[in-house]
Amino acid sequence: MSNVKIPDPDFAQSVIDAGGKTLDLCYQCGTCTGSCPSGRTTAFRTRQLIRKAQLGLKDDILPSEELWMCTTCYSCVERCPRDVDIVDIIILMRNMAVQKGYMSEDHKKVGRSLIKIGHTVPASDKLKQLRVSMGLSENPPTTIADPKALADFQKIMAKTGFDKLIGGA
Ligand code: SF4
Ligand code: SF4
Repeated sequence: MSNVKIPDPDFAQSVIDAGGKTLDLCYQCGTCTGSCPSGRTTAFRTRQLIRKAQLGLKDDILPSEELWMCTTCYSCVERCPRDVDIVDIIILMRNMAVQKGYMSEDHKKVGRSLIKIGHTVPASDKLKQLRVSMGLSENPPTTIADPKALADFQKIMAKTGFDKLIGGA
């Protein structure tokens, strides 16, 4: 089986047109990869992902797991000598991936939590205790404590089709 990657000549331009105007500014110095905490523990290489985007390797990028390994910490953006909007570009490509039916299972889980309680991360018992010790209510005055706000929020999620994008609530 051939491992030759077929570039899509329109892909880089579609990323630029969607808002990633700085994609072409990358000159492959690798500072982003050296700054990336995710890359220290995984095979994810920021520089390589940006290069693939420049080359139009859409079919390599969109179904890939590496596209979802960025934690959006912005360390790379702060250090990039060319002011490439690396995180924006990654998010743009994630949006494209989702439209094609690709999303990491972990991100789907976060989406399901959002639909269920209106927060991406549920409050832990420790956090609740801390709030009470500070004289606050156990839960913040958000969708967690307001069933009507949660119902309204869930209606918005359904209207936008977000629940379907993550494979159902
Ligand atoms: S730090 Fe900036 S210029 Fe250097 S490889 Fe990364 S994106 Fe490209
Ligand atoms: S924003 Fe993403 S790609 Fe950049 S350093 Fe952080 S985890 Fe790595």
